[in-house]
Amino acid sequence: MGFSLELTEDQAHLREWVHGFAEDVVRPAAAEWDEREETPWPVIREAAKIGLYGFEALATWFADPVGLSLPIATEELFWGDAGIALALMGTGLAAAGIFAAGEPEQLAEWVPECFGTPDEPKLAAFCASEPQAGSDVAGYRTRAVHDEATGVWVITGQKAWATNGGIANVHVVTAVVDPELGARGQAVFVVPPGTAGLSSPGKIRKHGMRASHTADVFLDGVRVPGRCLLGGKDRLDARLARAREGRASGGQAAMATFESTRPVVGAMAVGVARAAYEYALAYAKERSAFGRKIIENQSIAFDLANVRTELDAARLLVWRAAWMGRNNVPFTAGEGSMSKLKAGEVAVWATERAIHVLGGAGYTRDHPVERMHRDAKIFTIFEGTSEIQRLVVARAISGMHIR
Ligand SMILES: Cc1cc2nc3c(=O)[nH]c(=O)nc-3n(C[C@H](O)[C@H](O)[C@H](O)COP(=O)(O)OP(=O)(O)OC[C@H]3O[C@@H](n4cnc5c(N)ncnc54)[C@H](O)[C@@H]3O)c2cc1C
Repeated sequence: MGFSLELTEDQAHLREWVHGFAEDVVRPAAAEWDEREETPWPVIREAAKIGLYGFEALATWFADPVGLSLPIATEELFWGDAGIALALMGTGLAAAGIFAAGEPEQLAEWVPECFGTPDEPKLAAFCASEPQAGSDVAGYRTRAVHDEATGVWVITGQKAWATNGGIANVHVVTAVVDPELGARGQAVFVVPPGTAGLSSPGKIRKHGMRASHTADVFLDGVRVPGRCLLGGKDRLDARLARAREGRASGGQAAMATFESTRPVVGAMAVGVARAAYEYALAYAKERSAFGRKIIENQSIAFDLANVRTELDAARLLVWRAAWMGRNNVPFTAGEGSMSKLKAGEVAVWATERAIHVLGGAGYTRDHPVERMHRDAKIFTIFEGTSEIQRLVVARAISGMHIR
C-alpha cells in the first residue's frame, strides 16, 4: 500500500474519536492518577466500554494496510496523558510479543485473554528485562527447562521493570532455553492467568509515568503447558539447530517484539511532545512581560518554532517506520529505531522547553508541563535506550558490529 500524508477517511475518523476520549476522559483524570500512582481502572473500564481498549480495537488498527492507524491513535492517547495512556497501551506490548512469536492459534487463544472483555477488562505484561540485563538482551538468566515426560516447561528467574507486572492477567516472558547459544538460545512463553509460582513484590515508585504500574516479577518453578511456548516446540528445535550449526536463526526473541513496537513508542513520545508544545504556545500568547506578550520576543517564538519543527520531523519518521513495518519494507537503516530515537529525544527536549516558556509556573504542579517532562524521560530509556537505538542504526548503516 502506497504512503500518503493525506489521512484516509477511516484514519481521520479514528484520530477524531481517540482525541475526543483523550480530551474528555484522559486529560481531566491525569493529575489525579499521577499523584495517586495507581493504575487508573475507571479510565480503562471506560475505554473498554466504548471499544477503545480491547483486542478488536488493536486488531482493527493493525489491519490498516497503510500502517498509520496505530501511531495516530497512540499519539492522541498520549497527548491526553502519558501515564494513563501507558496504562492503556502496556497490554499492547505483550500482545505484540505474542504476534511476533506466536502461531495463529496461539494468537487466537492468548491475545483476547490479554485484554479481557468490555465488561471485565484485563491487563497483560511483557517481561523481558532482568535486574542484571536490560539493554544487554544476551544477558538474560531466566531459564525455561522442558520436562520431556510431561511436555511441560518449567520457568525460573526474575524479571525487572515489567509494565503491568504482577497485576496482569497474562504475562509474556522471555527465557533462556539453551544457555550455550546466548541471545539466540531464548524463547518466549505465555504464563496463563493464575499460574502458581509467579509473584511480584509490588509496584516500583517512579519519576514519571506514575499512573502506569511497573514491577519486578518472580518466577519460581512456574509450570506452563507446551502450548504456551510461542511458535511451538518444532519451530524452536529447528531454530536452535540452525543456531548450533552457525546458520541464521531469526535472531533474539525479545528483539522481534521491539522491532515492531518501536515506531509505536515513537508515536507515544510525539503525543507528549505535542501536548507540551500546544500548552506552551497558548501560554506564550497569553502571558505578558515588559508590556508585551512573551511570544513577541524572538527567543520565545523561535523556541516554539524549533519545537514545532522537530516535532513534525519526529512524526514523519514515526509514520515512515510504521508504514515500512506494515508493508514489509525492510528497515535497511534501522528506521524503526531511528524513529524512536528521534521522537524520544524530542519529547524530553520539547517538554523541558515548555517548562522554560512558562517560567516559574512551568516548574509547578499547577501546570501539566511539569508532569509531561517527568513522563517524557522514559522514552529515551524503555524499549531500548537512545544509545541502543544508535547502535541499531549505526550497525545497519555500516554493516559492521559497532560496540
Ligand atoms: C517505566 C519503565 C517501564 C518499563 N517497562 C518494561 C516492560 O514492560 N518490559 C520490559 O521487559 N522492560 C521494561 N522496562 C525496562 C527497560 O526496557 C530497561 O530499563 C531499558 O532497556 C534499559 O535497561 P537497564 O535499565 O538495565 O539499563 P542498562 O542496560 O544497565 O543501561 C544503563 C545505561 O548504560 C547505557 N548502555 C548500556 N549498554 C550500552 C552500550 N552497549 N553502548 C552505549 N551505552 C550503553 C544505557 O544506554 C543506559 O544509559 C521498563 C523500564 C521502565 C523504567
